Amino acid sequence: MSMVYQSPLRLRLDSAALLSNYRWLREKSGSAACGAAIKANGYGLGAESVMNQLALEGCRDFFVATWEEAQQLEAHLSDDISLSVFHGVRREDMDIALASRARPVLNSAEQIARWKAGGGGPCDVMIDTGMNRLGLSLDGLDMGLFEGLEIDTLMSHLVSADEEHHLNDMQVMLFRDIAKKVTAKRYSLANSAGVCRGEDYAFDLTRPGLALYGGTPHPDCEIFIQPVVAPQAEILQRRTVRGGESVGYGATFIADKTMETATINIGYADGYARIFSGSGAAMKGDARLPVIGRVSMDLVTIDVMNCPDLKEGDWVDLDYDLGYTSLVSGLSQYELLTRLGHRFERYWV
Ligand SMILES: *Cc1c(COP(=O)(O)O)cnc(C)c1O
Repeated sequence: MSMVYQSPLRLRLDSAALLSNYRWLREKSGSAACGAAIKANGYGLGAESVMNQLALEGCRDFFVATWEEAQQLEAHLSDDISLSVFHGVRREDMDIALASRARPVLNSAEQIARWKAGGGGPCDVMIDTGMNRLGLSLDGLDMGLFEGLEIDTLMSHLVSADEEHHLNDMQVMLFRDIAKKVTAKRYSLANSAGVCRGEDYAFDLTRPGLALYGGTPHPDCEIFIQPVVAPQAEILQRRTVRGGESVGYGATFIADKTMETATINIGYADGYARIFSGSGAAMKGDARLPVIGRVSMDLVTIDVMNCPDLKEGDWVDLDYDLGYTSLVSGLSQYELLTRLGHRFERYWV
């Protein structure tokens, strides 16, 4: 008898779509190598499996945010497979960083000094060209900082590549300029939206994240990027609700006639936001099953009038088209992906 817990909540992940998105981004990167941002557990999909699949497809450069994330991938690093840690090194990170094959992306004079004092080794460096978030400011930049640093990749990050914004051209110009002055093996600027903008943005190495996972940061890429992530939930109970009765907390939904509902195993604790109360939907094939009443912590009720045969134990897909869902919910495509919680059983097909 199997004692393995089977989750009533699954994340169906499409391997062919992930690889197809990668190949498209690599093609759009032109002569530049195409890396992959796999921070935040591969945007919620699972960093390790994303890394393994993309590495088999020829991807050589990966990016995470923290050393905790790097440690979980350490076993997969080699002379061939490189990993950069965007947040650089805090004092608390130094022992782990020095023992790791991953490289810190040094963001400040303090981090550079710390890295040098610790004996250093290959590193990346982030230059701020307009984001004002992380990275060395160009203003009064002391070139002496770079002496003795073994810089693999010099990078900067785009502010608004998903929109027509004057900062785009300016950032390319500023980055080209600093690239001439600071010696590094490679130069890297573009995230997903930057890759969509074309080869001027690609330099030697691109760093897409969102578009790999089916996000569409730029209208030009919408028809090429395929959805990768599909949340699925099991029906826990089916019931009949009579006209005049309410459904869920706060009695926000009142049936105007006798109707059939199903309660499914997903809620805001799983990342299915409360904003989908009365606006989200599940799908069974082509049938759309609207969410009625409020999203609870672990449960959602849907209208199943269209599906007389659906019963306890059956599965439905959540409507989670990233572009559309982002538009109607006000949540960014990044949030929609990264909020999907730990109760999902993630499986690749
Ligand atoms: C997250 C991140 C990326 C990837 O961005 P997407 O918009 O998801 O493609 C690239 N570079 C840096 C510095 C990042 O923080």
